[in-house]
Amino acid sequence: MKLDRNRFSQLIDGAVWAIFLHELAHAMIDINRIPITGREEDVADQFALFFSAKYLEPRGVPVVVPAAWFFRNLEKRRGEGNLQRQLADEHSLDGQRIYNLACWALGAEPGRGQSAARFVGLPVERAERCGAEYARLEEGMRARFKKYISFR
Ligand SMILES: [Zn+2]
Repeated sequence: MKLDRNRFSQLIDGAVWAIFLHELAHAMIDINRIPITGREEDVADQFALFFSAKYLEPRGVPVVVPAAWFFRNLEKRRGEGNLQRQLADEHSLDGQRIYNLACWALGAEPGRGQSAARFVGLPVERAERCGAEYARLEEGMRARFKKYISFR
């Protein structure tokens, strides 16, 4: 798909925000020894989504669709030949990360999240649970990071 310069620039900006916030989460978890269970990579994605949905997207900075676009392109480049390596990796599969981000965005703000859900083709069965998934995610973010970040 050929993108015009402005659209491409917007996608890159949003993807860089998503990567920055993801890496910031790793740094905060590591430096402060924030206790987490499960995959830290998923927590870092949740952190990036939480901050994007709360503070960036409401100010007109798209992050979720650009991040989904970025992961979709990564997925295409990796191909399916390396499935074993991908399954052994500490990250969720790119396809899972795409659906997770879109679902949580939908749960965070149904109006804005619809564009992400449409962009990734989020199945209705998953979409129905996104409000509850996001509520748990936000509760977890606030509980784990409240000592280090003052939330509004
Ligand atoms: Zn990571």
